[in-house]
Amino acid sequence: MIPLVKPYIAPASELMPEIERVLYSGYIAEGEAAWEFEDGLKQFLDNENVLAVQSGTAALHLALLQLGIGFGDEVISTPMTSEPTNTTIAITGAKIIWADVDPNTGLLDPNSVRDKITERTKAIMLVHYAGMVCNMDAFNKLSEETGVPIIEDAAHALGAKYKNKVIGSNSRFTCFSFQAIKHMTTVDGGAIAIRDEEDVAPIRKLRWFGLDKKVSRLENDITRAGYKYGINNLTGIIGSIQLKHVREVVDKYIANGKYYDKTLLNVPGITLVPYYKNTEPSYWLYTMKVDGRNDFCRLMEENGITASPLHHRSDTHSVFSESKCELPNMESWYNSFVHIPCGWWVDDETREKIVETIKKGW
Ligand SMILES: *Cc1c(COP(=O)(O)O)cnc(C)c1O
Repeated sequence: MIPLVKPYIAPASELMPEIERVLYSGYIAEGEAAWEFEDGLKQFLDNENVLAVQSGTAALHLALLQLGIGFGDEVISTPMTSEPTNTTIAITGAKIIWADVDPNTGLLDPNSVRDKITERTKAIMLVHYAGMVCNMDAFNKLSEETGVPIIEDAAHALGAKYKNKVIGSNSRFTCFSFQAIKHMTTVDGGAIAIRDEEDVAPIRKLRWFGLDKKVSRLENDITRAGYKYGINNLTGIIGSIQLKHVREVVDKYIANGKYYDKTLLNVPGITLVPYYKNTEPSYWLYTMKVDGRNDFCRLMEENGITASPLHHRSDTHSVFSESKCELPNMESWYNSFVHIPCGWWVDDETREKIVETIKKGW
């Protein structure tokens, strides 16, 4: 079966000697290797304010904490995502307010978000689902007009672009995940990219119990209790070596995505997703709408190709029941979208086979 997701791991000849070196170096906690990885991320994201963390979830949590979000607050979010986007909001005590999606893309609809803003709204959580970038022109305007900050959950969107620039410095916070199945993995890991420099030092402290690494342990004074969210040197060295390949790997996703955009256009039963102005997806999953999805998925499976919607909508979980509301566009999107394999493991021959299989009909 051709899978929808698969971890890319750099060649053993590059990775294993470095892992061995760090493991036996006598210093495996957060140190040089971790900071070098962080420097590499800064370069890739073209942003000086990037902190590496243990997971995408940790990055989201730190963003919410830095905004002071807690009980009595509201965060506008989308059910069209992987669960951690919303479980992370829930653990702060804030109430999730669902906004509806654009039925053509499955991404949050700025008009619906605008309708849901109240005086309790403390953040808008945008998810660049499957690597497609939200309507940032409209969301930036909305954030400026209302003063409500945006957190971008870019766990699916490493290397995607807005206005010709890799995402990671547009909104106040952009959160990335290096979990096993994302574009780039460090086994587990994440990063928070920060727009405003004044947010960096407080988040760095929250990342490490509330302690300030620049001050000696004996002179430190914790003013706000933090978490254990930093990375160790092992994660750091894996990350640095993975980063050497990230451009090539992400470009492979993008090339396959563009190939499908071209070859699946006008295929009966398929509706392609339009991408918003000034945005370029990084196609973590190739996303489209199909008529007769069950039959489509069955046909693909018979031909050794995984096709599936992959994620369950978040708003049906019991833990979010107090947020339940009507989302008619989500309904129609959720019943028709599907993903097909698009990642680095899909070679030219495979993608041709996938398109030929689809063109035969289902
Ligand atoms: C993977 C993922 C996360 C969480 O990342 P972890 O590194 O697994 O904690 C958050 N949001 C989305 C949309 C994800 O897909």
